[in-house]
Amino acid sequence: MKRRTDLDALRQEPGLSDPARVLRGLNLSTSHRQKNGFFICCPFHKENTPSCSIQKVDGVLLVHCLACHESGDVFKLIGAVRGLADFPRIIEEARSIAGLPATADDDEHDEPDEPKQEARKVTTVVFHAIVRPLLHLGRLDDSPIARDGTAYLRGRGLLDAAVADGWACFPSTASTRREWIKMLRETFDGRDIDGCGFVRGSGLTFPDNRLVVPWRDPSGLVDTIQRRRLDGQASSKYVFPSGRAPQWPYGIERLASAPLDAPIVLVEGAVDVLARRILDMDQGKVRVVLGVPGGGWRKRWAEYGKDRVVYVATDADEAGNRFCEQWSEQLYSAGCVEVKRLRPVGSKDWGDQVAARVVS
Ligand SMILES: [Zn+2]
Repeated sequence: MKRRTDLDALRQEPGLSDPARVLRGLNLSTSHRQKNGFFICCPFHKENTPSCSIQKVDGVLLVHCLACHESGDVFKLIGAVRGLADFPRIIEEARSIAGLPATADDDEHDEPDEPKQEARKVTTVVFHAIVRPLLHLGRLDDSPIARDGTAYLRGRGLLDAAVADGWACFPSTASTRREWIKMLRETFDGRDIDGCGFVRGSGLTFPDNRLVVPWRDPSGLVDTIQRRRLDGQASSKYVFPSGRAPQWPYGIERLASAPLDAPIVLVEGAVDVLARRILDMDQGKVRVVLGVPGGGWRKRWAEYGKDRVVYVATDADEAGNRFCEQWSEQLYSAGCVEVKRLRPVGSKDWGDQVAARVVS
């Protein structure tokens, strides 16, 4: 157990006490400002309008929800957002968010001390260049590295679509991960490796999140990566790099080359993009499918619906219906021709519908 003073010092680190930096590190919205901080959608209870206050008080972060009255410090916030209950893992994640080296007792990061370099904000071009070799090394080709990821996608009927989009797997063993990161550190500037948000020391953050989904910018460069766990554990099932939430919906690179009158289909997440594309192909429909990250809709994305028909194809549950209402309003004000609802029949989401075909 850490001594009290160590924890207090950690709480006061700029990266863990500055509300804007902490929220960016957790990929949370900073659009609702208040004195000394922000309001966010509460990570402790379900809500659509932000009522959870994040403020800097007496040099440390204070979290307090005005709706459910849950309160706590930065560690409690990180645990809730990342779905971590294990305190040492929360501390590990906190250090990563603050840009601090991992603790010495972490066997993932047992490299001798390297000269300290300051992490820096990584541009899309540099991020793309860094992940490109990793996507190639971990490509879905039944190599031992990707075998379980390949089996998972094949079972869901999504393998070909995932291969076409450049999905990959990160290695399951710490030694191979170390080799990959060593290659990156020998090839690129260390400040960019530390700044890309998924590398820590000589290892990876969230090493269990091995299935890699590249999210691209409109020109097709990989701007961020989403990683999914393959071990069936529920906590932190999907993660993005620290400070690198998607700036564009999944599949945006296909919009520029689509016919001007091609409708848009909005779905939840990258898996549903692949699934909905497959169903559209079956039905001979030419549409652009865009995936909105969980809870990460951005108002400016409504512009993509200008002069087009937009199908909102979110899950057929309460949350899916709420998304539809919220987006419709913004789509119409952005000049969308018509917003229509597209619901999966007989299954919760599009992925299940495609997976159901695999069995037959
Ligand atoms: Zn709350």
